[in-house]
Formats: sequence, C-alpha cells, structure tokens
Amino acid sequence: MPTTTFTPPTRILMGPGPSGAHPRVLTAMTRPLLGHLDPDFLRVMDGCRAMLREVLQTENEVTLATPGTGTSGMEAAVMNLVEPGDRVVVGICGYFGERIAQMAERAGGEVTRVQSPWGQPVDAAVVEAAVKAAGNVKLLAIVHAETSTGAETPVEPFARIARENGALLLVDCVTSLGGMPVRADAWGADAVYSGTQKCLSAPPGVAPITVSARAWDAVRRRETPCNTWYLDLQLLEAYWDERRTYHHTAPISMVYALHEALSLVLEEGLETRWARHERNGRALQAGLEAMGLTLHAQAGYRLPVLTTVRIPVGVEDTAVRGALLHRYGIEIGGGLGELKGRVWRIGLMGESSTPGNVLLLLNALGKLLREQGFKADIRAGLDAATERLGAG
Ligand SMILES: *Cc1c(COP(=O)(O)O)cnc(C)c1O
Repeated sequence: MPTTTFTPPTRILMGPGPSGAHPRVLTAMTRPLLGHLDPDFLRVMDGCRAMLREVLQTENEVTLATPGTGTSGMEAAVMNLVEPGDRVVVGICGYFGERIAQMAERAGGEVTRVQSPWGQPVDAAVVEAAVKAAGNVKLLAIVHAETSTGAETPVEPFARIARENGALLLVDCVTSLGGMPVRADAWGADAVYSGTQKCLSAPPGVAPITVSARAWDAVRRRETPCNTWYLDLQLLEAYWDERRTYHHTAPISMVYALHEALSLVLEEGLETRWARHERNGRALQAGLEAMGLTLHAQAGYRLPVLTTVRIPVGVEDTAVRGALLHRYGIEIGGGLGELKGRVWRIGLMGESSTPGNVLLLLNALGKLLREQGFKADIRAGLDAATERLGAG
C-alpha cells in the first residue's frame, strides 16, 4: 500500500526560515476556495494591499504580493527595473546580495559589485565611490537584513547616495519585514520586497512588494518589455488594481494566509512586535556569548531576528544540527556559501521569537556542545539570557 497521508512531526523552527506559522494563519488556509475574480476574494486582496502599505510603512499605490516565495519579489523588482545596458550597483555582504547581482546581469544590466566581508554591513563610502565612478547609475541595490551572515545594513546612507546620484534604490527586506523597522517611504526606498515565511510567520508562497511613484515611472517608460511575463509588474498591477485584468490564478489560500498574517502583525502593533524581536534576539545573543561561544556578525550590526554563531573547533556541524532536530525537535540552519561549516544560523522570527524558545535552544545546544567536548557554560548562558528577557 502506498502511503496516502502525511503527518509531519511538530518542530520548533529556529532556522533562517520558514518560521513557525501562527495557528490562525494555518486555519485561514483551510477556508473554502473562492474564484480569483470573486468579489469576496477581491476584497481579501484589497485588504492585503491596505495592510501591506501599513506594514511596509508606505503610501505607494503599487503595493501587491507576487506569486512565489521571496525570490519572486526579488526577481520582479530587478527584472522590471533593469533594462539591457542599465548600470546597476549592488552592495554585497552575503549570499542574497550576490543573488540580486546575478539577476541584474540576467536582465542585461551592467553590474558593479561592491563587496564587503560576510558578517559586516555593506560599506556606504565604497558604494558611493562606485556609484560616482560608474556614472549614470539606474539602480542601487542592497539587502537590509543579510540572512546568510546575520548582519544588518542600515538603509539611510544608501538612500542618500541614490538620491544624490539620480539612481533608484532597491532594498531586500525579506528577513526584516515584520521583525525590524522597515520604513519604505521614510527611507526613500524605490522598491522594497519581502517574503511570507520569515518574520511574517506564514508559509512560503507569496512575496510582498512595493514600488515608489518614481520607480513606477521608470517601469512604464521602459524601451523594452520586461523579460519575465509572469512577474511583469505592469501586468500584475492590472490584476491588483481596479482593472482586475486576469493575469494568473491567484494562489487563493496563500492570499488568505497573507491576509491573516498581516492582521496578526497589526493586532500586535509594529512597535511592540519589533521590540519583541529585539528583546528575544539580544537575550539569545547574550546567552550564546555567556556560554562561551563567539558571534559571527559585527557587533552593533547584529540582526535580532537571525543570529550567526561560530561553530567551535572540534565540534561537528551536522551532528549537532541533526541531534537538535531529532532529539529536541529544533531546527536551526547551517552556514551558506563561504560560511558553510563555519557558523550556525539561529532564527527568532515571527511566532518563533519567544522567550521560551531562547531558553530551550540555549539549553539543548549547550548540552550537545558538551557531548562534543566543548565546555559550554549552560548555567551562565541561561542566566545571561534570562536577565535580558526580564529587562523588558
Ligand atoms: C529568504 C531570503 C530570500 C529568498 O526568499 P525565498 O522565500 O527563499 O525565495 C531573499 N533574500 C533574503 C534576505 C532572504 O532571507
């Protein structure tokens, strides 16, 4: 007999995504399907649009969710804004910045990569020099929260550079949205996209994106049609706005999920939610250090939502992660790219960002490290974290 049902085990998702989904989000996905042009479904889309504007802190007209995971938001932003021959500067300090650069090349852009070490923010001074040297740059792109390294790149300096040099600014907020301040309009960002399975705590499946009036103008004035049909923002907008022109069959249940996830964010309140992520993230980081471990990302730029910690010499990466999963039901991430085998990535995103998860992880990880011969001071780690959690 072939297996006909699947009952996934219960896991605590503390990797780089997906994070745990709120039960209300999962329940929303079980509601009856509606047609993609049913007036009741269109109301759900309009609700998503309005809530996305609040969560992204923008008044941009063009604000929607592309079908597909966070990468579809990235591809929509890059492919629509870059035409063959356009000059593009990408500030890269990790895996996802490099992905943007590769997409911009596929769009036919003349791409300048400005590299910073993995674990540090993108260097604004070097980017500014590169933008000036290239001249006539159409698009400047950065990743706000580099999930591969655990480092934040503050957006404001890049917004100034873009403005002063007549470039558009693209910001990847896949990991930051819903967990850290994202202020599209106040930053002056021209394109911001995200995903659903990080700090919004819904399953992976759609990608929020917002485009400024300035960037929309550039999209509409393109000389060549955007070379993706599925993620052509002008076609997508014609479905999301009052024209309601069929483009694709919306992933109905995922739009329900997004709607519920955004409601939960706004019920909690943006400031409260950011503070929760900040408190839990700093407690985890204090605990890891007190246990005797070394954090990888540069102090002062560490993300509260994703912590990179160095794997001690002599400790086996996959053995520890495997035991965390099988003995404790906890998932954390391994290193990506040049950090493979060198760091663990511990996420505290959305529903997974709780004081209980911080203490559970420290306890379990400390125990496994001791089994591997690393003298983790579990007591000190728990004390340090508990103190930070109680500090409000
Ligand atoms: C996860 C992530 C992406 C890609 O999102 P997918 O949902 O995996 O397609 C892009 N950028 C950053 C910063 C991410 O963390």
